[in-house]
Amino acid sequence: MRQNKTKPVKRICALPKALLAAFGGVVVPMADMRQYTSWRIGGAADWLLEPASEQDVLLVLETAARYGIPLTLIGRGTNLLVSDDGIEGIVLRIGSAFDKIEFLPEGRVRAGAGVLLAALSRRTAERGLTGLEWACGIPGNLGGALFMNAGAYGGSMSAVVTEARFAAYTDAKAKKAVLETVSGERLRFGYRSGCVSEGRVALAATLQLAPGDAAASLAQIEQTIAERAKNQPLEYPSAGSVFRNPDGSHAGYLVETAGCKGMRCGGAEVSAKHGNFIINTGGARAQDVLCLIEQVRQTVLIKTGYKLETEVRLLGRYSD
Ligand SMILES: Cc1cc2nc3c(=O)[nH]c(=O)nc-3n(C[C@H](O)[C@H](O)[C@H](O)COP(=O)(O)OP(=O)(O)OC[C@H]3O[C@@H](n4cnc5c(N)ncnc54)[C@H](O)[C@@H]3O)c2cc1C
Repeated sequence: MRQNKTKPVKRICALPKALLAAFGGVVVPMADMRQYTSWRIGGAADWLLEPASEQDVLLVLETAARYGIPLTLIGRGTNLLVSDDGIEGIVLRIGSAFDKIEFLPEGRVRAGAGVLLAALSRRTAERGLTGLEWACGIPGNLGGALFMNAGAYGGSMSAVVTEARFAAYTDAKAKKAVLETVSGERLRFGYRSGCVSEGRVALAATLQLAPGDAAASLAQIEQTIAERAKNQPLEYPSAGSVFRNPDGSHAGYLVETAGCKGMRCGGAEVSAKHGNFIINTGGARAQDVLCLIEQVRQTVLIKTGYKLETEVRLLGRYSD
């Protein structure tokens, strides 16, 4: 008997009508994830939902749990490798509806999870507050930065965040998602691992900054931006650093020492400018990036003895 070798057609998962009726934000069916990621890579998400309010977030959490719909969270998509086969279910994108910044007394700042980190860095510097200058070149939003414990130039989110607000589906018995505020020592951060535990959606955070000199902070920001433009391949789509720095060394240095700069797989290339960046030179697929990541890891292991771990997060339909 002849085998039918055509690929099975992917079916888009259905959304309950009640969700579509009550949701106040933006709904995009079959969302092209290349438009929502800085690598410009990835297949379609069944549904991309951009909430307009905290109530929308609660509604999505409750609906996904009740109907068993897979739920994936994203911010600005600057640390993500989305599968070429896309993402099943709902992608919940925390965006511009959550971009409020409030200046509180004594150097405290409350910001929504959708605020761009670079904008928050500049706005606080302009206000004469110091402590967030390091964040000016990080293209993600505050929610992603809380999840990743984003950091640079010796600074990190863990050093400035004092309180965070989440939505979570914790009460399965009552079939309810709830809002919760976590502060102080209960906010646990690690290296590139933030204070958002699995299943929680970060909605906002309060940061403690110190009084400073606006002109000096803004000058530091300009210098950092110039340094990044000199050392990083910002002219190409990427997801920033692909590998975590292993204890005692730097991933970029190891990749360069192992001679991996310029290595290619399809449209993906290890940047000649920065060893820890894999750039999309045009039409790169997630498979190209994965193949290159594996080649680099093998080469670095053989030549330096270091086993590199990825910092970028894989989302969507991967076979294992
Ligand atoms: C050119 C370039 C330079 C970079 N430089 C740096 C750097 O210096 N330092 C650094 O740390 N990073 C850097 N990055 C990586 C990236 O910008 C950060 O990790 C950023 O914090 C990710 O934010 P995002 O909004 O893009 O999150 P996404 O990439 O969309 O998501 C990252 C993770 O966070 C989760 N997430 C996102 N939003 C929420 C939310 N509201 N609630 C719960 N979970 C959420 C997602 O599920 C995902 O697992 C760089 C990236 C690029 C492209």
